[in-house]
Amino acid sequence: MYERERKDLVETLKSKGIKNERVLDAFAKVQRHLFVPDIMKQHAYTDVALPIGMGQTISQPYTVAYMTEALDPRPNQKILEIGTGSGYQAAILNAMGVRVFTIERHHDLHKSAVKIFDEMNLKIAARWGDGTLGWQEFAPYDGIIVTAGGPSVPENLRKQIAVGGKMVIPVGDKKIQTLQIISKISDGQFNIKEVPYFAFVPLIGKEGWKEK
Ligand code: SAH
Repeated sequence: MYERERKDLVETLKSKGIKNERVLDAFAKVQRHLFVPDIMKQHAYTDVALPIGMGQTISQPYTVAYMTEALDPRPNQKILEIGTGSGYQAAILNAMGVRVFTIERHHDLHKSAVKIFDEMNLKIAARWGDGTLGWQEFAPYDGIIVTAGGPSVPENLRKQIAVGGKMVIPVGDKKIQTLQIISKISDGQFNIKEVPYFAFVPLIGKEGWKEK
């Protein structure tokens, strides 16, 4: 289903500057309509963010593609995602042959993402909890991708990046953030590239925004 729409979305992403073939292949494969609520399905392949309940959103495809391209994960690498949400970003990484670990703080969203992963037979390790603390048990990670915006880079996450690994994380105020692409050169030494003007839902947790 939606074969044609998916092809069109891949063309849209290319026209907006996404070049990595492995990223584009993943977008051609993963059925985004399975990750959005029924009433939104007709918009599943439009390049926009859509509501998924609990005041959260499935990120805009271009944003997912941009962050994934920045992370540039290789098959069999271990990637930690903070903010499972719908599960779509995790499924994109899974389609690239990555070992995905993902954390979501909303129990209902966690549960529905796990249900979709099970139905699709995707081997993704998903946990309910505060992702700003990371997932120490499986650290270090070749890559960490944070899909919600925080006031600063959580120290726990910084520690859980492998040397030679990367983290992609939006940092800023609640309305607008700069995407930081952080490469870990050695313990305590990081290279940071900043890309302005992204808008994510807030990262809420011990090392994020405080819950109201
Ligand atoms: N990657 C998701 C995007 C969801 S929006 C997708 O592809 O659909 C970001 C998600 O981050 C929301 O579901 C929100 O509840 C979650 N979130 C916010 N703060 C978090 C935290 N500290 N730990 C884990 N998840 C968090």
